[in-house]
Amino acid sequence: MNDKCHKRTAIIGAGMAGLLAAINLKKAKREFMVFEKADSLGGTWRDNRYPGLTCDVPAHAYTYSFAPYAEWNAYHATGPEIKRYFEKVASDYGITPFIHFNTEITACHFQEASANWELTDAHGENHIFDIVIVASGVLHHPSTPDITGLDDFQGSCFHSAQWEDDLVLENKNIGIIGCGSSGIQIATALTSVANQLVHFQRSPQWIMPVEQFNYTEEEKQDFRDNQQLIDDIRYDKQYWDNIYRFNKGIINPDSPEMQMIEDICRDYLEASIQDPALREKLRPDYRAACKRLIYNWQYYDCVQNQNVFVETGSIDRVMASGVQMQDGTFHTLDILVLATGFHADRFIKPTSVIGRNGLSLDTFWSPRPTAHYAVTLPGFPNMFMLNGPTGPVGNFSLIDIAERQWEYIDQLLSIIHSGDAETVEPKISAFEDYEKRRIEAAQKTIFSSGCSSWYLDNTGIPMTWPWSYQDFADAMQQPILSEYDIRGAS
Ligand code: NAP
Repeated sequence: MNDKCHKRTAIIGAGMAGLLAAINLKKAKREFMVFEKADSLGGTWRDNRYPGLTCDVPAHAYTYSFAPYAEWNAYHATGPEIKRYFEKVASDYGITPFIHFNTEITACHFQEASANWELTDAHGENHIFDIVIVASGVLHHPSTPDITGLDDFQGSCFHSAQWEDDLVLENKNIGIIGCGSSGIQIATALTSVANQLVHFQRSPQWIMPVEQFNYTEEEKQDFRDNQQLIDDIRYDKQYWDNIYRFNKGIINPDSPEMQMIEDICRDYLEASIQDPALREKLRPDYRAACKRLIYNWQYYDCVQNQNVFVETGSIDRVMASGVQMQDGTFHTLDILVLATGFHADRFIKPTSVIGRNGLSLDTFWSPRPTAHYAVTLPGFPNMFMLNGPTGPVGNFSLIDIAERQWEYIDQLLSIIHSGDAETVEPKISAFEDYEKRRIEAAQKTIFSSGCSSWYLDNTGIPMTWPWSYQDFADAMQQPILSEYDIRGAS
């Protein structure tokens, strides 16, 4: 690295993406600090601690490309294992000392005169940086349902991402509201411990069957001895064919690929659920992959246990001892889990971000959160997002997405570090062109085919990358510099 200028970088967030940025900046011998609002690292894998938490991306594909890991216990890893992986990587790469824990950044203000950012933390301290990497995550603001009487419930009631760790679950009557990836995993894990389990499903989900198996000690030793075996899984042709098939289906709902996905999900439902009445309860009335597909291998078995009841009626209200349905049914419960998802449109919010000429991020993100190629923001110089709005979403590794985004960001950073520019930001015209094309394409994706989901913005348009995975990979290889406003060599 041939840096001419000494520039300081702030990284907001010590989850997967923040660690990635820190490792790369450290390798490049650049000065940086990581600000983390919590007292430990790991982001979503720190916050989510619910029973059954598993990543539905194969474990060996859910690692940094530069830090393979031989110790996964199974093809799909559990949440605690993944958290340990990130802690180990942070330690191995010497990142932990650079993280300021319990330090939430509450404001970022661009200083026009000095062309740098002033960050204010929750303790009231100010910090000056030249560059800001926003790695604050996507699904980290729990959404609790607006159901009458929720506060009246006398048992334990909490969001899936705020699990009460010491809670006794055995032989309890447990209700779970929500059947997204979280609700399905929780229900699967609790069937065997609950006395009765009621799974409230406002909109049943399509499930894609995936395999799961444990790795033996011998296999782990083989992984330690021969990294090629890990790469064989990470770059497995069938895994990538599935991703490309899935991606083709998303962007062209009439494609044979989407037909195939729909057939697999429907056949799985038909073949798995014996009771016709239960099968119909579990049959979604929208197209597969319109909401994020559930990848699972056990739920349809668990849901047929005698102690499980699938409730697809409308909730009237929550009362002290349970949930009253509109049809008069009452479910007596000791525990009520709200697996009701997240406010997915917040990203770095509620941090106040003010860019050039007093432009606030709230204003820029009205009506929807967005970013140029999901990474940069016109009017917010030297600010870069990892896993920001309009990036690819689906059943693939967000680590791979973040690594590709870093490739793009790093080339823009090099311009600043080399002294060829003081600030870099996308031109508004380039951004508007991107966003116009993106919205047009997003409205043609399967996400727009008629269901509600966290992929949609307030106006009902998917906040996602609407083109192919390969298009995204290509776009991230090199920023188009003519799309950028590159100002003032220092
Ligand atoms: P989600 O997919 O947004 O699902 C929320 C569920 O709560 C839906 O079933 C929704 O029903 C229901 N719900 C919300 N408000 C409700 C209300 N007022 N009354 C009744 N039901 C209500 O949330 P999530 O399951 O936490 O998953 C979010 C995302 O996290 C996933 O899509 C995935 O990206 C990620 N995740 C990944 C993994 C993994 O293995 N990689 C695991 C967990 C989570 P409607 O559909 O009717 O709105």
